[in-house]
Amino acid sequence: MKLNLDKLRAIVGMGNVRTDPLDLFVYGTDASVHEAPASAVVRPENIEQVQAIMRYANAELIPVIPRGAGSGMSGQAVPIKGGIVMDMKRMNRILEIRPEDILCRVEPGVVDDDLNRALKSYGLFYPPAPASSRIATIGGEIANNASGVRSVKYGATRDSVLGMKVVLANGDLIRLGANTRVEASGYQIDRLMIGSEGTLGIIVEATLLLKPIPKYRCLGRASFNKLEEAGNAISEIIASGASPSILELMDNIAITAVNTTLNMGLPDVEAIVMFEADGQVKEAVDYEIAHIKAVCEKNNGFGIEASYDPEKRMKLYAGRKKLFAALSRYKDGLACTSLADDMAVPYSRMADMAKKIHKIAEKNNVVMTAYGHCGSGCMHTKILMNPVRKEQWDDARRAVEEIYDYVYAIGGTTSAEHGIGISKAPAWKKEKADSLKVMKAIKKALDPNNILNPNKLQDAPDDWVSATRLRYPVKGAV
Ligand SMILES: Cc1cc2nc3c(=O)[nH]c(=O)nc-3n(C[C@H](O)[C@H](O)[C@H](O)COP(=O)(O)OP(=O)(O)OC[C@H]3O[C@@H](n4cnc5c(N)ncnc54)[C@H](O)[C@@H]3O)c2cc1C
Repeated sequence: MKLNLDKLRAIVGMGNVRTDPLDLFVYGTDASVHEAPASAVVRPENIEQVQAIMRYANAELIPVIPRGAGSGMSGQAVPIKGGIVMDMKRMNRILEIRPEDILCRVEPGVVDDDLNRALKSYGLFYPPAPASSRIATIGGEIANNASGVRSVKYGATRDSVLGMKVVLANGDLIRLGANTRVEASGYQIDRLMIGSEGTLGIIVEATLLLKPIPKYRCLGRASFNKLEEAGNAISEIIASGASPSILELMDNIAITAVNTTLNMGLPDVEAIVMFEADGQVKEAVDYEIAHIKAVCEKNNGFGIEASYDPEKRMKLYAGRKKLFAALSRYKDGLACTSLADDMAVPYSRMADMAKKIHKIAEKNNVVMTAYGHCGSGCMHTKILMNPVRKEQWDDARRAVEEIYDYVYAIGGTTSAEHGIGISKAPAWKKEKADSLKVMKAIKKALDPNNILNPNKLQDAPDDWVSATRLRYPVKGAV
């Protein structure tokens, strides 16, 4: 790979090509366990610059890895083979807000929370809401098909994207989708880009479908002494046709983590279910909340409370919101790693999955919790382990494999929302064995020189532990 920095500087300007070791290190990591140094970081500010970079890289066969905030948890933006990391954050303009069409047009580097702040004065919001919305970019969310706490009602990113502009590997610009809610013509190439993790094209603009901000939001919590009962309540709430806007589960490890590290005073029970209903008509929200409460009670839920008051809502939700930080401080010497962190399972298997996570953790000498946006079938965990001990990586490798084998056995899937990247690729390739050939053919058609985020998804290494350097000072080779 011969990188001509002067050519890149001529495209984006002197200060927007970075090669000092600190930049290369920082842009070589994300929120995953992986690390691989970039060859250069390039920061375009418009579509023409993105096109020029791609034409140059394609001619010289140099990998290009598009990057938003780098908050991906599976190594999606880690430059596994080096190359140019294309930082999209300078392309951060909100181009147009059209309240009459409930849509907006944005550049890919717009941060989710910034967009929602701008939409607020129009009485609108952009629904996906990943927990990382303070930093995650719209481009990164589309490339990952991110979802979040309210996806149970409003869907994942794919349900809010109407269209986009994409720069292909050869520098061509294509327009996909339409400004309309429905569009039925031909191959849905825009859908293909959603969740493609930067391997098929660079998203340089997006047209997004918005929703009116609900006038009423009521948030509640129920405690359960048995995990199965919490799982049954979740299944029953969904199956009964209720339409919660939040439906979350926290197990006892998650509860203990927020109580001991952040002193949150959550009830010390086997599981907590959090729920919310929202809407424009208070009676309708009241009705939903009463129904959800009744289902929780029927499944032996207790200590049930709910409130419309914003301050009380914030208090009720604080434990869940701060969970990631709490897990990072769960026990001295244990790091909270984003491994086996995300999956989706059928509603009826939610409690089985949570229990299996605990069993697998115990068997493999790590700590794992079960929580997540269970209303949309999504279950999260994290592996808490001592990352400097080589044996712990063997433990983690086994735990990840066992978790996903169980997920498939009960009809679930490798990724609910956190993407595949490097860490989850071996498990995902197993799940998608039937369609890998088709995916490889699509990749070849759109990126024949394999320069766009290479060695990811279907082309990722089979062992995630040795795929890159690990971000921790491991004693001994892994
Ligand atoms: C504390 C925490 C909480 C999180 N909670 C959630 C959650 O609730 N739900 C959820 O879904 N995720 C969550 N995530 C994961 C992560 O924030 C999301 O995957 C998010 O969508 C990544 O956005 P990003 O801008 O950081 O993208 P990056 O991490 O920079 O990139 C991710 C992928 O997108 C590609 N990409 C980025 N920009 C573009 C572009 N313009 N064109 C093409 N490809 C591009 C990259 O190449 C890479 O493959 C969380 C992460 C953290 C650290």
